Amino acid sequence: MKTILITGGAGFIGSNLSEYFLNKSYKVTVLDNFATGHRHNIEPLLENPNFKLIEGDIRNLEDCRKAVEVADYVLHQAALGSVPRSINDPITSNDVNVSGFLNMLVAARDAGVKRFIYAASSSTYGDSEALPKVEDKIGKPLSPYAITKYVNELYADIFSKTYGLETIGLRYFNVFGRKQDPKGAYAAVIPKFVIQLMNHESPVINGTGDYSRDFTYIDNVIQMNELAMTTDNKSGVNTVYNTAVGDRTNLNELVGYLKEFLTEYDPEIAKVEIIHGPNRAGDIPHSLASIDKAKTNLGYQPTHKIKDGLKEAVSWYWENLK
Ligand code: NAD
Repeated sequence: MKTILITGGAGFIGSNLSEYFLNKSYKVTVLDNFATGHRHNIEPLLENPNFKLIEGDIRNLEDCRKAVEVADYVLHQAALGSVPRSINDPITSNDVNVSGFLNMLVAARDAGVKRFIYAASSSTYGDSEALPKVEDKIGKPLSPYAITKYVNELYADIFSKTYGLETIGLRYFNVFGRKQDPKGAYAAVIPKFVIQLMNHESPVINGTGDYSRDFTYIDNVIQMNELAMTTDNKSGVNTVYNTAVGDRTNLNELVGYLKEFLTEYDPEIAKVEIIHGPNRAGDIPHSLASIDKAKTNLGYQPTHKIKDGLKEAVSWYWENLK
C-alpha cells in the first residue's frame, strides 16, 4: 500500500484528494494548520485506519519532515490562496507559499519521495494576453500571490535538476466544486454566489461581467493529480501542466447558469437581481487554457465541462448548506 502526503488536506482541493485516494486504497497523511481549511472537511476520514492527520505548519521544517517520513508521493496543496489576500498581506503569503514550499521540497528530497506533485496556478500567466494559455509562454505576475506561485515552479525545476527530485506542477485554473468554502472575505466567486443566491441576496459582479475564466470542476483536478502521480512517461515529468477544461465562461454567463440550476430547487431565485461593482486590482480580463500538453503527455481527458460541474456543485451546496 503506497502512502501519499497531502499538505493542505483539510482545504477544498486537499480534502477532495484525500477522500478520493483513501477510496482507491492508498494510505493518506494530511499535514494542515487549519489556517483556511476545516475539520469538517476531513471529519468522515478520521476513523479510517489508513488516514492520519498531522496538525502542523509548512513554515516549520520539522513538521514537514515528520509528515513526509513514510510518504511515497507528495501532493502539495498547502498555501494561502487569493490574490486580494496577498495584496493585503504579502509577507504572510510569501512565508507560507514560498518558504513553506521550499521546506516541503527539502523534506521531500531528504525523505526520498518518488514524486512531488504541487498546486501551481494560472496566475503565473500574469499580464500575458495570449489565448489560449500555453505552458511555456508566461507574462509578468500581477500580484504577490502570482509571484509566490511562479517561484514554486522555479524552485521545483531547480530541485529536479540539482537533486533529481521528480516534480510536476499543476497550474490550476479557477477550481470549483463540493467543499469549497463559501465564507470569508477571500471566498472564491462560485461558492460565494451560490450561497448568496440561495439566500436571495444579490451577487456582486466585479466589472461589467465580460471577464472570463476557464472554470474547472474538482473531478478534473483529481484526475490530473492521479495522472501526474502515476505516469510512467518520464519525459512528462519535471514540468508543469495546465489543469483546466479548455473552455471559458464569462461572469454574466456563470451567474446565469447558477440561477438556472438553483431555480430548480427554489423558483424564487430566478428573481434575484445581479449588482455590478468596480473591477478588482490584480484581476486579468480573460483566462483560457490549452490542455494539449496534459492530453498528450498524461492522457488527460476532462470528465466535466463547466455546466456538468456547476450542476453537481449546486446540488452539493443545496444538500449540505441550505
Ligand atoms: P484552501 O484554502 O481550501 O486549502 C489550502 C489548505 O492549506 C487549507 O486547508 C489550509 O489550512 C492549509 N494551509 C494554509 N497554510 C498552511 C500552513 N502554513 N501549513 C499547513 N497548512 C496550511 O484552498 P484550495 O482552493 O484547496 O487550494 C489548494 C491549492 O491550490 C493552493 O496551493 C492554491 O494556491 C492552489 N490553487 C487553487 C486554485 C483554486 O481555484 N482553488 C487555483 C489555483 C491554485
